Amino acid sequence: MAKTYEKMWRELGMDVEKHCKLLSALTVAYSDIYLSQIYRPEGTGYLDFVVSEAHGLRIEELINAKKDGKKIIGSFCLYVPEEIIIALGAIGVGLCGGIDFEPENVHSFTGSRNICPLIQSFMGFKLSGVCPYFEAADLLVGETTCDGKKKIYERLNELQETYVVNLPPNCSSDTGYEYFKKEMGKLIHKLEDLTGNKLTAENLASGIEKVNQKRKTIEKLYSFRKNKKVPISGKDVLLVSQLAFYEDIDRFNEKIGELNEEIESSGKYIPGSESMKRIMITGTPMALPNWKIHHIAESTDEAVVVCEETCTGTRYFENSFSATGDMDKDLNNVFRHYSSINCACFTPNPERIDDIIRLAKEYSADGVIVNNLLFCTDYALENSIVEKRLNEAGIPALRLETDYSVSDTETIKTRIEAFIETL
Ligand code: SF4
Ligand code: SF4
Repeated sequence: MAKTYEKMWRELGMDVEKHCKLLSALTVAYSDIYLSQIYRPEGTGYLDFVVSEAHGLRIEELINAKKDGKKIIGSFCLYVPEEIIIALGAIGVGLCGGIDFEPENVHSFTGSRNICPLIQSFMGFKLSGVCPYFEAADLLVGETTCDGKKKIYERLNELQETYVVNLPPNCSSDTGYEYFKKEMGKLIHKLEDLTGNKLTAENLASGIEKVNQKRKTIEKLYSFRKNKKVPISGKDVLLVSQLAFYEDIDRFNEKIGELNEEIESSGKYIPGSESMKRIMITGTPMALPNWKIHHIAESTDEAVVVCEETCTGTRYFENSFSATGDMDKDLNNVFRHYSSINCACFTPNPERIDDIIRLAKEYSADGVIVNNLLFCTDYALENSIVEKRLNEAGIPALRLETDYSVSDTETIKTRIEAFIETL
């Protein structure tokens, strides 16, 4: 791929030599982690294709769309509504990073080493010029979910225009919800100005229906994991959720729909999965290509991950909704949906804990891994409540804190193996 797309990457202003290094590392990791699995449904070939072309064909598609006048919107969080981006004729791409790349550049840019891995990753990508999604984006949209993000967007704005959506400390109060709606209204105006398109009842309904189909398709894939014989690995489902942030929505809906049909009709499953321990994971999101905890847990051959209560999991697709065709009602449904995503940045956030207990039961989890990215204070502190509630509910829990490096892999592996032994 490197030769075919080199010209395109140079024209985007990327550092092609560094980018090649990144791609080589990813190709090896993908082969080790994904292609070595003992069983995968044939439809996962689509995932291999999307990963192999994530910096090639997909970027070419985005550049062609830009030539046709479409705008590319980069975002870092679920709180930036996809429905509205699509309604306004733009294309949304996720920019969260799941791998370290030249973190020393971020340390020298910010003067700090104590940065959460997710922020360090996307800033490393931007500073090193190795992410074609950043370089293709016409506008970045950030959000004030945590203190780290609040401040880093000020610095990111020095490098590339970054519009920030301000969030209230919670949306459950009337004041909080009104504030959230006003901020969403300001975002809509910003995107209307950028795209030159107006939000209408028709284009909003169409955006809602596309995203609704995507959510339903992922939800269906998740439903198969409730079976005793599990037909797809947690790693593969995590990858589906991660790719949902980059991939062309129509192709994604079609291909994941086909994967669902295959799973439903073939009756095949991961050999031995009926006697494996069923693990659920909750905590900070796992941005592409962070597959660390899933890979360690499933490499024991004694466990299969059956659910993720994260933004790269159930929080992305639950509470889906259809279009009504009435602009006010549809906008209100969009706002209600997004303001109900249970991120640890909100306080209090009891709904997330209720969700975790509910999901552990729905997916018959034997145990829950409560995972946190280093330096993420919101999730670290909320996880102490999660652990307490899981204990009270009689559900075994293992709390982990990690980053994207491999330095703690052996320690994490030992702890996960010991946890699985106890289940
Ligand atoms: S965990 Fe919170 S900040 Fe991160 S993507 Fe989800 S909603 Fe956004
Ligand atoms: S993982 Fe935590 S600290 Fe990092 S960006 Fe997300 S909410 Fe902020």
